[in-house]
Amino acid sequence: MQIPGLVDPKPVPRKPAPARADGKRALLGLSRADLRDALISVGIPEKQAKMRTAQVWNWIYQRGATEVAAFANISKDTRALLDQHFVVGRPEVVSAQVSTDGTRKWLLRFDDGEEAECVFIPDAWRGTLCVSSQVGCTLNCRFCFTGTMKLVRNLTPAEIVGQVMLARDALGEWPNGTANLPALPDTDDNDEDRAYIPGAHNPGSNYTPEGRMLTNIVMMGMGEPLYNFENVRDALAIVMDGDGLGLSKRRITLSTSGVVPMMARAGTEIGVNLAVSLHATTKEIRDEIVPINKKYGIEELLSACAAYPGANNARRITFEYVMLKDKNDRDEDAHELVRLIRKYRLPAKVNLIPFNPWPGSAYETSTPERVDAFSDIIFQAGISAPIRRPRGRDIMAACGQLKSASEKVSRADLDRRAAEKEALWVD
Ligand code: SAH
Ligand code: SF4
Repeated sequence: MQIPGLVDPKPVPRKPAPARADGKRALLGLSRADLRDALISVGIPEKQAKMRTAQVWNWIYQRGATEVAAFANISKDTRALLDQHFVVGRPEVVSAQVSTDGTRKWLLRFDDGEEAECVFIPDAWRGTLCVSSQVGCTLNCRFCFTGTMKLVRNLTPAEIVGQVMLARDALGEWPNGTANLPALPDTDDNDEDRAYIPGAHNPGSNYTPEGRMLTNIVMMGMGEPLYNFENVRDALAIVMDGDGLGLSKRRITLSTSGVVPMMARAGTEIGVNLAVSLHATTKEIRDEIVPINKKYGIEELLSACAAYPGANNARRITFEYVMLKDKNDRDEDAHELVRLIRKYRLPAKVNLIPFNPWPGSAYETSTPERVDAFSDIIFQAGISAPIRRPRGRDIMAACGQLKSASEKVSRADLDRRAAEKEALWVD
């Protein structure tokens, strides 16, 4: 039975984020209204609450303050009161790695000890932060390392915004707060989908290849963002808020494996660019590699894309397509992809992702010639189909290589785990 309407199907019960050991509450990630209520609840007088909310918000998101003690324009007594009850709430950095290509990966630990990864991908004309929405993932796309994780918990808005804050810390982007964005046309040019052009330089940008600027965000880290809808929405509201982190919705892309019932809400309540992990054009193959397809099939998914609020020729939907050798990379697959995009009249582009291997993965990457031929077919049909250059493979930071818990699992264990997860989807 299909889950109807606007309901988050939450297929697996998840652990809520527990309270901090010191009993304090994180200010990070609270909406303005919740922040105001929180301040009043600890004794800030109601008539001051609006001003205090604006001050705290400014210290955290515009100036990058990491502790309550740094809120310098708030009186000492009030600061002491706030300090008694709150922390700003940055995630702890367990490790920070830098790839030979400049990609950076952070392993972050949250208050309950759970961990997630976050990746910064500097490019000639932009810097993209790949943000996680969950610890692990309840889905188990067969080519994705994150999908092999047993444990799953939703990240809170504080933990999602915290990744962006942390990246800004590491990139030295405070105290200006809002990134000085390069003068790029705000079209659908939103994720790290362009083939790399060495030396390419955007004259309007003050970005340097060393990577000083976070200009774009992709919700493409660990987890399925539409299975954590409210938290992702609330976190992105802060990221997009002009007095918050001030990133335009056109510079943010949310990727879903195809949680059809949540797509319309994502369009209206979040409004960022949409990427869809299609990866196959037939039921047989998509059922195998993206098993959520058994619940929400290709036709249903593409209909939801056609209805996605805000998609048009200037803001196209990105179809992600992982190139798996002898699995989904034949000419016929490319032709079928074109046919489907046309059938549903989708304002679309296709992002071809060479498969990034991980320990124990059962697939191989298509040959570069095959990927080129596949891309050409789609291009010839008038649909953009750039090949995504793998980034950060040497530090396991590329698409689908993120996994925070290290454990050795056999192929048989992985298959068993996949079957267990799927069994939990039965409505
Ligand atoms: N859960 C969301 C977003 C995270 S994954 C989703 O599935 O869309 C981001 C992208 O990387 C997805 O398109 C995903 O299918 C792809 N991906 C996963 N594992 C991969 C791998 N090993 N190699 C290449 N791409 C991969
Ligand atoms: Fe989850 Fe996305 Fe990985 Fe699939 S590809 S297992 S939905 S993170």
